[in-house]
Amino acid sequence: MSVREFDVANEADYDFAAVERRLGVSRRTFLNFCTGIAASFGLGTKSAMAMAAAIANPARPPVIWLHGQECTGPTESLLRSEQPSFEHLILDLISLDYHQTLDAGAGHRVEEVKHEAMKKHKGKYLLVIEGAIPLAQNGIFCKTGGQTMMEATREAAEGAAAIVAFGSCASWGGVQSAAPNPTGAVGAPQFLTDKTVVTIPGCPPNPANFLGTVLYFVTYGKLPPIDEKGRPKWAYGQLIHENCYRRPHFDAGRFATQFGDDGHRKGWCLYKLGCKGPETYNNCPSLEFNNLGGGVWPIGVGHPCFGCSEQGTGFNKPMFSLADVKTHTPPNVFPIIPDRQNPASSTVVASAAVAGVAVGVMIGAAAVAGKKLGDKDEQAKAEPGKGA
Ligand code: SF4
Repeated sequence: MSVREFDVANEADYDFAAVERRLGVSRRTFLNFCTGIAASFGLGTKSAMAMAAAIANPARPPVIWLHGQECTGPTESLLRSEQPSFEHLILDLISLDYHQTLDAGAGHRVEEVKHEAMKKHKGKYLLVIEGAIPLAQNGIFCKTGGQTMMEATREAAEGAAAIVAFGSCASWGGVQSAAPNPTGAVGAPQFLTDKTVVTIPGCPPNPANFLGTVLYFVTYGKLPPIDEKGRPKWAYGQLIHENCYRRPHFDAGRFATQFGDDGHRKGWCLYKLGCKGPETYNNCPSLEFNNLGGGVWPIGVGHPCFGCSEQGTGFNKPMFSLADVKTHTPPNVFPIIPDRQNPASSTVVASAAVAGVAVGVMIGAAAVAGKKLGDKDEQAKAEPGKGA
């Protein structure tokens, strides 16, 4: 696909009236949305207008969408998003030629349509893979229309202009790949090792991350810059822990230690309940879920992040095991942080803040060090011959 030439100064390049009719949103809302998406990419106004033109363009790239081993969570997440209505945006942005969940038809005729579309649009269509690909016993654990997921994926990948793995299952195997992984489930990048696969992990993934990636593809004819795990950098460039609104409690050493305890009810940090935010890259704290706001995301509603989007963490690490804190070196000493409800201790808070600057402020990280040292002490007691 070539990069679309777009003249920002040429109003004729826009068909906002058509967009308003199609999407049911005002021009202002639409342009605000495009500006926000472009800003997420670190791009400016011209790019936002180019994205607006791409959405307004009636020519839509064909998409082949395959389902493997999964719960259909990514599609469900996509269809239930609102304001802006992503499913309208996406379904108007692309020509969804084959989708095993959303196709009205069924049976051999639908499979024929898929093959006709792949032949007609060879080298031009976007392949979206949702779900893991089982490799054990030649892939017999997942078949559609007589094809194993292995066969369907390989066939569709050959003629694709770009490939997107949507959801953790498609990105690296997800829950199916958890030990002992009886079906040999892997993600698309581990199967299509000769192809570039953009991954949008999450369980479910945020539909905004999918929309942004598709929008970038439609606008520029290529997929956005990715990290070493294939994730778009604009969406997965930072740890959840870096932007979490409970972070000040982590830094101050205030932790919930049981569900429903005083700290939990006060909204303190969930690290000691097993939160994997310190080792999980995703933009959940910024985007949230369910209409982009309102505090609705796992940590926002009081549940620790379980690292669903992080390969090696989600579905692998036990829920209550402590996360590795990647961003901060734990200090050797840390001050006592009083309960905020105890005003008599407020002077200690001030001194804690000062001391925090000197030792790196990250008191929460000290808890990690304390835990690790404690583990070593226990280990030393159990195995006297080994040093801590
Ligand atoms: S450990 Fe979890 S709850 Fe605590 S600040 Fe980090 S991401 Fe937020």
